Amino acid sequence: MDILVIGCGVSGLSTALCLLREGHHVRIWARELPPHTTSNIAAAIWHPYKAYPPDKVTAWGKRAYEVFKTLMVDEDCGIFMTPLLEAFYTPQPDPWWVDAVENFRHARSDELRPGYQDGYVFDAPVIDTRIYLDYLVQRFQKEGGQIEQRTLTGLEEAFAHCATVVNCSGLGARELVNDRDIHAARGQTVRIRHNGSRLALLDEENPQQMAYVIPRIRDMILGGTYEEYVESTEVDEEETRAILNRCASVAPELANLRPEDILSVQCGLRPVRSVVRLEAERLAPDRLLLHNYGHGGAGITLSWGCAEEVVALLRQHRS
Ligand SMILES: Cc1cc2nc3c(=O)[nH]c(=O)nc-3n(C[C@H](O)[C@H](O)[C@H](O)COP(=O)(O)OP(=O)(O)OC[C@H]3O[C@@H](n4cnc5c(N)ncnc54)[C@H](O)[C@@H]3O)c2cc1C
Repeated sequence: MDILVIGCGVSGLSTALCLLREGHHVRIWARELPPHTTSNIAAAIWHPYKAYPPDKVTAWGKRAYEVFKTLMVDEDCGIFMTPLLEAFYTPQPDPWWVDAVENFRHARSDELRPGYQDGYVFDAPVIDTRIYLDYLVQRFQKEGGQIEQRTLTGLEEAFAHCATVVNCSGLGARELVNDRDIHAARGQTVRIRHNGSRLALLDEENPQQMAYVIPRIRDMILGGTYEEYVESTEVDEEETRAILNRCASVAPELANLRPEDILSVQCGLRPVRSVVRLEAERLAPDRLLLHNYGHGGAGITLSWGCAEEVVALLRQHRS
């Protein structure tokens, strides 16, 4: 089949690759290409943050976790496994997504900084998006897929080209398919020089805003912010200072960063939705539309699980 995928972030690229590997002819059209997508802004670490519903998110995340493990044998893909410590101020039950990860345990008290009472520790894939998105683009093109930079103002244009269209437009779905459920949650991060640490740290409950430290391959990402309905991607200098302070409180070795340690500051808009939209719509006998968008703060975490489900949906709707 000829299939058109709208979107060239992690959802579009993973879905397009899976469809290509099913033997279809696949083309991507996207307004922004890597490195200019939201997916490039993500650090990214495996964590099902602000994505719903929990049962499906656990299944999609578990599948993506497995795929990341198989991919990481290729050093060029930008993925590696690292211990993640997520710290809490009060005792916590196991997380709802516990079955999706390996080597999960609660933190020992000697692993927690003063003030924290509990923590989750598990092996988390780090997906270094400065490398990984290019890797996906190269894999897709090498395996015969085509990518074109092109903005769609509606689906008519897509169906004029192709009878099967996959909508991986992220926040763009708001205008493209008039989705009132999806909205933005702004996130700002600071990229710094690597300090040699391998432990990823996360404090989602920090009263000032969340704090996280993600060591990547060549650099580290410090975060972060989660500002619902804020759509500006301008860097907020005050927020940069606040992020550096919060991160220094969870990782004191970051307290004395020099200006030259700070490599860049970036902002992106998470595509937040009450639930991820992953479904098929038969718009006409010869028009099939599949949706895969609205992954909130977890689009990388869920990518392969969702992409494989698009392939399964297509098989069902073809027969
Ligand atoms: C600061 C920050 C940190 C994050 N950290 C993590 C993390 O650690 N782990 C994690 O899993 N996730 C993280 N996320 C979330 C993650 O980035 C998103 O969930 C993910 O990028 C969504 O991917 P996507 O492919 O669906 O959308 P996008 O990457 O936004 O791609 C959408 C694509 O659709 C195209 N498009 C949109 N409208 C149109 C149109 N009309 N015509 C043509 N093309 C169109 C766009 O140009 C783009 O190519 C983070 C996000 C932010 C902002």
